[in-house]
Amino acid sequence: MPFRLSSFDDAGREIASHKGNPANNRGRKEENRDVTDRALRYRAHANAPPGPRICGLCGSTRNIDIGHINGHEEDNSAANKLYMCRSCNVRCGNTLRRAGLGRLTQQYNPAPEGAPNLGAWVNAVLSIKGDSGGNMPVAEAVDVIRATPPSKRSSFAREIWAIRRRRGTDRSAVPF
Ligand SMILES: [Zn+2]
Repeated sequence: MPFRLSSFDDAGREIASHKGNPANNRGRKEENRDVTDRALRYRAHANAPPGPRICGLCGSTRNIDIGHINGHEEDNSAANKLYMCRSCNVRCGNTLRRAGLGRLTQQYNPAPEGAPNLGAWVNAVLSIKGDSGGNMPVAEAVDVIRATPPSKRSSFAREIWAIRRRRGTDRSAVPF
């Protein structure tokens, strides 16, 4: 299942949208969830992040979709959307889930500011992807990424893309 940063909140959403509705019609339930997923995806694409379709987390230009930084697909604010490649999207989802984040009840503290430079951005990125190079708590990384203006994220993505291009595809030479 590609582009599922928050597949783990399906259950929460399903439960929420079927309150008071006896779980007696599984077919209808699945259908409703499909409609909801489609609607959420449509809304995400209706207001795409600015800049080229480059993964903001690794600079890749392949399999790019719009990811939801905090894991909430229903949160389509500009702060929460970022171009992500499929691989980073999945890894973020896994990290958020391990950290107990991305659920509908999760509250976030507003971050005072976004990443001021590429180094800070990469640290947040590595942290949200669960890479050993990152040293931030996942919730903090989510806040920093969300607080970074979309235009700035886009320029970080381009920088990362350029660095990757210079260094080739040697994964050991590229820290993200
Ligand atoms: Zn990526």
